[in-house]
Amino acid sequence: MTTSAVTVQIPVTKPVLDQAEEQAVVQVLRSGWLVQGPKVAEFERMVADYVGARHAVATSSCTTALHLAMLLHGLGPGHEVILPSFTFIATANAVRYVGATPVFADIDPVSCTLDPAAVASAVTPRTRAILAVHQIGLAADMEGIQAVARRHGLLVVEDAAPSLGASYRGRRVGGLGNVTCFSFHPRKVISTGEGGMITLQDDALAERARRLRAHGMSVSDLARHGARRVIIEEYPEVGYNYRMSDLHAAVGIQQMKKLDGLLERRRERAERYAAALRDVEELQLPAGRPESPHTYQSYLVQLRGARKSRNQIMEELLAVGIASRPAVMAIHLTPAYADCRRRLPVTERATREGLLLPLYPTMTDAEQDYVVEHLRRILRG
Ligand SMILES: *Cc1c(COP(=O)(O)O)cnc(C)c1O
Repeated sequence: MTTSAVTVQIPVTKPVLDQAEEQAVVQVLRSGWLVQGPKVAEFERMVADYVGARHAVATSSCTTALHLAMLLHGLGPGHEVILPSFTFIATANAVRYVGATPVFADIDPVSCTLDPAAVASAVTPRTRAILAVHQIGLAADMEGIQAVARRHGLLVVEDAAPSLGASYRGRRVGGLGNVTCFSFHPRKVISTGEGGMITLQDDALAERARRLRAHGMSVSDLARHGARRVIIEEYPEVGYNYRMSDLHAAVGIQQMKKLDGLLERRRERAERYAAALRDVEELQLPAGRPESPHTYQSYLVQLRGARKSRNQIMEELLAVGIASRPAVMAIHLTPAYADCRRRLPVTERATREGLLLPLYPTMTDAEQDYVVEHLRRILRG
């Protein structure tokens, strides 16, 4: 058997979609109203209620949500924003979109989220905000981050793209009081294909976010459509087209109904991995913290003294039909951020030695046993 003859049998992830989503999309198509409308409003209400926020504003992606979050806080040229490098590049790109300067801080080696001490030492007189990332289903150390923010008078924005359903000290991420951004890309916990959401508490900021995502227009398409008199819209400021469509939102509504079940299945699968891999010395397994249970959007294992390189292990897994992915990237090492280089030893090690194993709610025991068996064999060999 040659390696090229083997097709992947076990993907890294798989969205859970069925007739509920199919029917919801057909219903929107038949309604004739495709753009942001009643389905987006319903989806927003569901997410706001779920996370415990006053407002939720749907967007075309988490990246555009993050861009709006930067604009809402008036961040721009001359302002420094402290964020982790151990995250998807979109987190830092949003800082760049408004002309502000990303300043990368190192992470905690176990949780792989921002280390508040590293954040504190990155503060300068130009620092305006901390962009905390709730990475792959684990809430960042918000108490430590808020303490630094209070001490220096900084804003806090949360990138919770992969972490819908994660919580911190008994409260859901997105409802902790800061402007928080979520993603509904298929790699995340629930998916609308593409899509994002901002959750926030402040009425005026929410209204501005709604305006900015729709060309800066003073009245929404839906309000104008439903009005009994002629409404001539105004454009008080330059906005964007960052809207979600009702087709996407209809999928999101059905996904929200599944969310608790999906999270439960993920936790179950993660616990099963932990039981099966606990004794493997070369692996540091992911774990939640008492104040922030893990939702395992991804299952990140870190290699500790393995004889083979991470990439070699990935190749050997693929040869038996098992997909895996390198850990979260380190933005400061990519060419686009060559001007933001600094030494971040914990981040560099985590990105080099981290491996994402397959994990999805519909993963069977047999599939998981197959992954465990081959991973153990590869590490031994
Ligand atoms: C996926 C992800 C994003 C980007 O989300 P999109 O919806 O694809 O724009 C941003 N930040 C983090 C941490 C992510 O994991």
